[in-house]
Amino acid sequence: MWQEWATTALDLFFPPFCPLCHLRLGERRRDPLCGSCWEGLERLLPPYCESCGRPFPRFERGGSREGSPCEACRRSRPRFTYARAATLYGGRVREALHVLKFGGKTAVAQPLGDLLAEVGSSMVPVNDVHCLVPVPLHPSREAERGFNQSVLLARRVSRRWGVPAEAKVLRRQRATRPQTDLDAAERRANVKGAFELRRSHVVEGRHVLLVDDVLTTGATAGECARVLLNGGAATVGVLTVARVP
Ligand SMILES: [Zn+2]
Ligand SMILES: [Zn+2]
Repeated sequence: MWQEWATTALDLFFPPFCPLCHLRLGERRRDPLCGSCWEGLERLLPPYCESCGRPFPRFERGGSREGSPCEACRRSRPRFTYARAATLYGGRVREALHVLKFGGKTAVAQPLGDLLAEVGSSMVPVNDVHCLVPVPLHPSREAERGFNQSVLLARRVSRRWGVPAEAKVLRRQRATRPQTDLDAAERRANVKGAFELRRSHVVEGRHVLLVDDVLTTGATAGECARVLLNGGAATVGVLTVARVP
């Protein structure tokens, strides 16, 4: 009641606008996103590859491949046990992540973290997860940006699930080139040896869930998983806001 009143009073003096479509926030809003942008985030539905989470094309749905690993995973099994994403990368979710990372609108991590918690709870064995580990940025990149989006997302999921977020387990010890223009093999080489495990006692014998904003080829998540498994983690899953189709 008090909170509602406070929100109404704030809206009166600072009318809130959605950072994606720039319309005034109305009903069904998920601050700072408006209701239509929130609902327009394209949730990923099963069936998908049990290993990397890649959604199977529509014509394969309901077929015998449901749940089984995709072609790429059968050829080369990823390091992580499973990867899941809340949405397919593109459209509104790409804009939302862009506004968060490059526009400095850290409030956008709240609805995106909620989305991770909500969609993720049907994809991830939440009760088995011991801790959430955000994929670290290199300290110089984080200083430049002022925050690590993966930490903000993991904290939000942590609150919703009651699972601790451990932001100091992994450290990015080497600055890497942006992965954007690299192919899969170049991406793996680019991140090889980039991460260091700092608090192995937190992950030893445990089910660890890596949290990141986007999964592209899985090179970064795979390298983090390798380091965590070498350090004694029993299971390493991955949860991202979006995955590139
Ligand atoms: Zn909007
Ligand atoms: Zn796969």
